[in-house]
Amino acid sequence: MNTNTNKLKLVIVGHVDHGKSTLVGRILHETGALPEGKVEAVKAMSEKRGMPFEWAFVIDSMQAERDQGITIDTTQIRFKTAAREYLLIDAPGHKQFLKNMVSGAAGADAVVLVVDAHEGVQDQTRRHAYLLRLLGIRRIIVAINKMDLAGYGEERYQEVRREVAAYLRSIGVNAIDITFLPIAAREGANIRERSAAMPWYEGPTLLEALDAVPQPVAATDLPLRLTVQDVYKFDERRIIAGRIESGSLHVGDTLLFSPINATARVASIESWNAAQPAKAGVGQSVGITLDEDIFVERGHVASHVHSAPVVSNVFRANLFWLGRSALVPGAQYRLRRGAAETPAVIERIDRVVDTNTLASGPGDKVEWNGVAEVTVRTRGLLALDHHADNALTGRFVLVDGHQIVGGGTASTEDYPDQRRDAAPKGTNLFHVRHRVAAEDRARMNGHRGGILWFTGLSGAGKSTLAVELERRLFAKGYQTFLLDGDNARQGLNADLGFSPQERAENIRRIGEVSALFAEAGMIVISAFISPYRVDRDRIRATHGEYFHEVHISAPLHVCEARDTKGLYRRARAGEVKDFTGISAPYEAPVAPELEIKSGEWTTERCLAALVDYVEEHLAYRPAKIRAVV
Ligand code: GDP
Repeated sequence: MNTNTNKLKLVIVGHVDHGKSTLVGRILHETGALPEGKVEAVKAMSEKRGMPFEWAFVIDSMQAERDQGITIDTTQIRFKTAAREYLLIDAPGHKQFLKNMVSGAAGADAVVLVVDAHEGVQDQTRRHAYLLRLLGIRRIIVAINKMDLAGYGEERYQEVRREVAAYLRSIGVNAIDITFLPIAAREGANIRERSAAMPWYEGPTLLEALDAVPQPVAATDLPLRLTVQDVYKFDERRIIAGRIESGSLHVGDTLLFSPINATARVASIESWNAAQPAKAGVGQSVGITLDEDIFVERGHVASHVHSAPVVSNVFRANLFWLGRSALVPGAQYRLRRGAAETPAVIERIDRVVDTNTLASGPGDKVEWNGVAEVTVRTRGLLALDHHADNALTGRFVLVDGHQIVGGGTASTEDYPDQRRDAAPKGTNLFHVRHRVAAEDRARMNGHRGGILWFTGLSGAGKSTLAVELERRLFAKGYQTFLLDGDNARQGLNADLGFSPQERAENIRRIGEVSALFAEAGMIVISAFISPYRVDRDRIRATHGEYFHEVHISAPLHVCEARDTKGLYRRARAGEVKDFTGISAPYEAPVAPELEIKSGEWTTERCLAALVDYVEEHLAYRPAKIRAVV
């Protein structure tokens, strides 16, 4: 069982001097969380120094004890009600507070926004509220404090309440729940006990309001996100250590690693104990082994195949700037998302937001504690989520040297997922209108452009024939170019693995590149096993005018006998998985434009047939002009 189930993480924010520390001291007192005699001791100390007692001193003295290492827990204050335990993350006014909030080190479940009844909404009230919006905190309690200074009157309370509500509404805080209540922290009014001074108020006390916040659901129902922290080698096994940020995984699940886009199955979940668990869930740090050796490293994110994060190197973000010097576009930072880190630039400041007036507009810099909408471009591809989908994996921090200088939430809507949206979308692509017609190119070259798509089993002779055909056609004056599987895998498709989806994508891209060559007027010879009929048919469907399917056909036993690369032997020995012809089927073309029986024919005959085909189908013949009689 998760030990966190009955704990609520709380943060207290608000303008300076509006009473945050006082409220914390008072809450601790009211819930009996303070050490015996603490208040008396602090009172006596204040008296001795001739100062009025402050609840904040209680916190300060606890802080001092912590600094001396007397209390073990360093930054977190706990208290308990009959209903549950609370964890107050970070002391109010702590100088790292905003950084902790922004970096997500402090993932608060609920927040108390303290507003002075006398002063009303102030600068930091707005700033902090804006931050809550950015962080997507959904449960907000607005405590309108120092009601004693307002004579405990309802009128002023309503006034401030309206002011706060209007601000929250204007910035679009989409909290599920906002509770307002009048308190006097110093006097303990409406903290635990209902205050007799405010009989007009009928709502809950502060502690009642806190207890009414539902226990947050662990992010198990969100898609799996496992951030890889490290990869260890133990004997012959590689153990991938990571933290499950959301969702859960089981032994046997196929995991997709982003941004490398490689899949493998979970072979085991490691454990120091004898029994290996069959599943692991959110919040757990786990070590897993995979059934395949894929290149995984720190910062990669594992998900299930059909609920993968977005992979991109450009996205929009709401940014909270914490740097002492202003943020300027073009400056280089390091961006951290989970355990991933990559150089990044703020490409553009889209809007600078004045949290006081909420005026927003173009700007060329963002000052300390400022908020802006920006466009971020990272050097490497990054796996991340749209913040609204997953608040944990949709946020990032910017680091300069050793300092966190900003934090933000990612919005990936405006930019395509470079993996999932790899297929062009017809709607927003505009075909360039060339001023050189295909006919002009054909006349100039003496032939039309086209794709000779060589498909066939490994060992059927695709490469051998393709290389020689390229040479012969070139010698005859054809503009020709050979695209070969191995070369494309090293460059254009270096990011792709060998899962069925990736094989399909590999072929799709080659098809597109081939079509561009053909459009440019060349005869491109594309030699790829391309085992799946559907992948080849897709190229035919989109680029039918250029597509000539050439089946280089030889029976399996012939291919195997010619197996120069040793692939068949290794596939049989189980060293090469998913090898076409053995463990994966090869789907031969049904009606290819040309069949080259490389198993029966001599190489010379194969080449002659290919050259003939080209001369017959691609050599330029001007469109016929009918003689007028
Ligand atoms: P923080 O900066 O938000 O942590 O504010 P503090 O808790 O230090 O409070 C600032 C000042 O307001 C202190 O002098 C407190 O005694 C005073 N204060 C806090 N709560 C109340 C209250 O309910 N009534 C009155 N009159 N003063 C309060």
